[in-house]
Amino acid sequence: MAFENVGKVWTPTSLEEYLATRAVPGWIDSLTIHHTAAPSLVQRPSGFTIQHIRNIQSFYSRPKSQGGRGWRTGPHLFIDDDEIFGMCDFRSKGIHAASYNKRSLGIEVLGDYDTENPKTGRGLRCWKTAAATTSVLLRWLGIPKSASSILFHRDDPQTSKSCPGRKVAKDWFIDLVPDAIPSPPGPDEYEKPEVGIPWSYWHFAGEQWCVPLYAFLTAKGVPSDEVLANLRTSNGALYYGTELINGGFYVSKNSSPKPDESTWAPVRNLLEILES
Ligand SMILES: [Zn+2]
Repeated sequence: MAFENVGKVWTPTSLEEYLATRAVPGWIDSLTIHHTAAPSLVQRPSGFTIQHIRNIQSFYSRPKSQGGRGWRTGPHLFIDDDEIFGMCDFRSKGIHAASYNKRSLGIEVLGDYDTENPKTGRGLRCWKTAAATTSVLLRWLGIPKSASSILFHRDDPQTSKSCPGRKVAKDWFIDLVPDAIPSPPGPDEYEKPEVGIPWSYWHFAGEQWCVPLYAFLTAKGVPSDEVLANLRTSNGALYYGTELINGGFYVSKNSSPKPDESTWAPVRNLLEILES
């Protein structure tokens, strides 16, 4: 059951399209990055094939008495030079880092970065693909990139491994990851209106800060019935009464977004609605 993504292959772009159709599992607050060590880049001169992934799955699931691990699950994704191979479904917790299995997707990058170079050639290609994948996943999860949302296996106090390799510095990798969701700017950089919505709900889109429309207006005392009566959509655009909410959007956390729960709007527009 857990290994149901074996056989799926994506690029970062097609992974993003796939994830848009998947509900965000509530258990994930971070990604844990690993290297495969064995196989190394040299041992996989053309990267992974689906058969390689099936072989790894077989090794994980075989009983220990037959030389396997006896696992019912494993890491979630394997990344090579330019592709992402599925292993375990994102709804299932994996097995990859003792302290992080309960809360983190496990991502394996092809190579042995105790010895192989992550900063040139194929090593760099693999790490760039890993960085793009990390960005896509964080955007799907709605989590800004940080040293606590991007974990390295070796951050786990329960391991003595150097994983994902001594040659990979965590700061270097985090810098390589395109910003999925900008971290909330500090007060010096951006003066945010005090609207009583926790920062974790803010979303940067279309170069403006947006908050959940329904949560915001009801928190400001607009009756729930009134909000829902005024909210409508037409051709993907969002209206409140007759007002077009320019820059409003859905967050497709559910396969069929509900206007009351997943409709976001620029905070500026919402303040105008309150004043009118
Ligand atoms: Zn590891």
